[in-house]
Amino acid sequence: MRSVWLTEALKADRGAAATPLDGDLKVDVAIVGGGYTGLWTAIELKSRDPSLDVAVIERDVCGAGGSGANAGFALPMWLQLPTLERMSDTARALHIGRASIQAIDDIRTVSAEHGIDAQFSAANTLWGATCERQSGHWDRMMTLMEAFQVHSYKLLDRDQIREATGSDAPVAGVIDTASAMIHPGHLVRGLRRVALSKGVRVHENTAMTALGRTSPPTVTTPRGRVTARKVVLALYGWSLSIPELRSSAMVMFTDAAMTKPIPGKLEEIGFRNAPGLTDSRTFVESCRPTADGRVMWTKSGGWLPYGDRLDACYRRTFRSEDELRDVMAAYHPSLRDVAIEGAWCGPIDRTMNGLPIFGRLPTCRDIVFGYGYSGAGVAPSRVGSHILASLVQDLDDAWTRSPLVRPLDRSFPPEPLRWIGGQFVKAAIARKDRHDHEGRDVGPIARFWLRFKPASYKPS
Ligand SMILES: Cc1cc2nc3c(=O)[nH]c(=O)nc-3n(C[C@H](O)[C@H](O)[C@H](O)COP(=O)(O)OP(=O)(O)OC[C@H]3O[C@@H](n4cnc5c(N)ncnc54)[C@H](O)[C@@H]3O)c2cc1C
Repeated sequence: MRSVWLTEALKADRGAAATPLDGDLKVDVAIVGGGYTGLWTAIELKSRDPSLDVAVIERDVCGAGGSGANAGFALPMWLQLPTLERMSDTARALHIGRASIQAIDDIRTVSAEHGIDAQFSAANTLWGATCERQSGHWDRMMTLMEAFQVHSYKLLDRDQIREATGSDAPVAGVIDTASAMIHPGHLVRGLRRVALSKGVRVHENTAMTALGRTSPPTVTTPRGRVTARKVVLALYGWSLSIPELRSSAMVMFTDAAMTKPIPGKLEEIGFRNAPGLTDSRTFVESCRPTADGRVMWTKSGGWLPYGDRLDACYRRTFRSEDELRDVMAAYHPSLRDVAIEGAWCGPIDRTMNGLPIFGRLPTCRDIVFGYGYSGAGVAPSRVGSHILASLVQDLDDAWTRSPLVRPLDRSFPPEPLRWIGGQFVKAAIARKDRHDHEGRDVGPIARFWLRFKPASYKPS
């Protein structure tokens, strides 16, 4: 299932032939997964040491995963500071926060330098609440941010939000003035071009079918085998196919859709160059304008895959087109009947504390991994590329000592318990989101299941 973003980007990238791996290959570093994590890591490694022979192995086309499907909110990691600080100390937490700001700037500068049409828009993200019950939970976070000397979040009331976005839905919110919006498809295909220009070998239509935890490690593909000094697993939700990584994350899908261009209509309702909206539901909704005057929106809490069977969920969105229309129309009722260009869905890889996890595979120290962005990977994947590059180079530096490099855990049970329990948690979350809007309590059974819900990248 291709997103409208990726379809557009592939059209613009027409000359870029996919080159499947045919035969055996020996390289310094093999990176499995051609999304932001894999491509940024390849670029970072070549910038640090141009003599390295680096290959990216992607089973489809680069961008076919989350990187070509997301909503394009490039968010700083400030809201995760309290968790990062609890896991390490203030200095190391702040290092990650600052690195995420630098990551947003890197997206802007790399795009400008390499002619990537990432449509970087400094219009911010508004973190709002669509009912009184979900409003105000940012107060504690605002106090904490002040303590960390982070001043980029500003409270807005209903009138100010209406003026900024034309939407009446949020009752209050916080604007994140350090965030930006991008075109995810052009960014990921652009990073592929940058990687190629630096001499990275990119093999698309080349799935890893087996991983040799040997010395040196190997990556088997349908028509060849890659032997590398180091292997980087940049597999996002597909990390669940690696037994060692399975118990530290779970996956749930998010639905997305995009209208056809309606720039005049957006101008009329005050949403043309407006900030993007995200709400405070646990099954978060987002709604943003695009550079060419469309609306793109998402709703999480879609398919819950069984085990690592993510591909079975890709066939269609969890919700019907009408249900998706309702999500967008709640923000802008006058857009209910506009033509939809396409709808798609994609996986979200969640860790229990909402933070990505990086490290070395316990069964083979020469295989490193990074995943678990928990719904916010656009900027953090760039942060992760520094960590992965330092792990590959066996460095002991601020990146490898970061709190994001941490032991794998057993947060999520094996199947079938994971799927069965997941359905109960999912139902409890949906009930809570609904009851919050109706001003009702969820009751003790839902409260019990809510205790098992993974944290989001932002408080809810
Ligand atoms: C609908 C949606 C909306 C989102 N919105 C936002 C947002 O607004 N802001 C934000 O920050 N984040 C958002 N995210 C999350 C963000 O997209 C991800 O965190 C980010 O793209 C992760 O990048 P990645 O490179 O790690 O993963 P991916 O881009 O998924 O890359 C992994 C790659 O591995 C490949 N692969 C899998 N198995 C194999 C194999 N066996 N062999 C070879 N290759 C393989 C896949 O094809 C894929 O291309 C959203 C995600 C979704 C689905």
